[in-house]
Amino acid sequence: MSGNFVDRLMRLAGECGIEIDREKAELLGNFKDEVVEWNNKMNLTALVEEEQFIKKHIIDSLMILKNIDFHQGTKLVDVGTGAGFPGIPVKIMRQDLEVLLMDSSRKKTEFLKYAVKKLGLKRTDVLCARAEEAARNIGYREKYDAAVSRAVSALNTLVELCLPLVKVEGVFVAMKGEDPEPEIEEAGGAVAVLGGRIRDVIPYELPGGLRRHLIVVEKIQETPEKFPRRPGIPEKRPLF
Ligand code: SAM
Repeated sequence: MSGNFVDRLMRLAGECGIEIDREKAELLGNFKDEVVEWNNKMNLTALVEEEQFIKKHIIDSLMILKNIDFHQGTKLVDVGTGAGFPGIPVKIMRQDLEVLLMDSSRKKTEFLKYAVKKLGLKRTDVLCARAEEAARNIGYREKYDAAVSRAVSALNTLVELCLPLVKVEGVFVAMKGEDPEPEIEEAGGAVAVLGGRIRDVIPYELPGGLRRHLIVVEKIQETPEKFPRRPGIPEKRPLF
């Protein structure tokens, strides 16, 4: 990893009000190196150019921590984490969190298992599963204080994948793009049916002016047992 990467990351994050100390910036740099190396063997992510990686992967992931106050030791699941976003940068910055990185792709979870070990991240598990199946397992259902998810599906589908994993009084944070309003409108019925309530829509900006939003859904009651439906159904026939 180049010292240049570390300096650039610390500077760009600082411009967004995110302070990263050198030790953590180096760990984030080591993670980037692993992603790039594995990307030569398998397609993990299209974004590997240094500045883009810093802005759109690392800083974007850390916007969750800037905007959401997770208590010490929060149990967090990242649904459809892919190459580890936002889950791994969040875990590197907040090592007190207990994190589950979940993805349905075996090759991605093999990479994640390797990366978690290589980076020495404690209390970080990797699960190869579809969220629809994991949420039917009592070991995962309503066991998390928080779920997060980026770039997995539209909000009306995503709430069916994520809310069943969250405890009552916990939160689900969906990372969305420039204009989340149409998705929010479409998902209103699904959020209510699944035991949630949209608490907040938080706008933020990445360096370079890219506008994004966090949609914060609080879980106000248990998710009815019939949800989530079978794998694939939440996407094929979103609740309304
Ligand atoms: N969250 C990462 C990011 O923002 O870079 C990855 C996004 S990638 C476009 C979507 C990921 O979601 C893929 O790795 C895919 O395997 C995973 N995925 C899609 N549907 C899923 C489901 N029902 N359960 C678990 N993972 C799922």
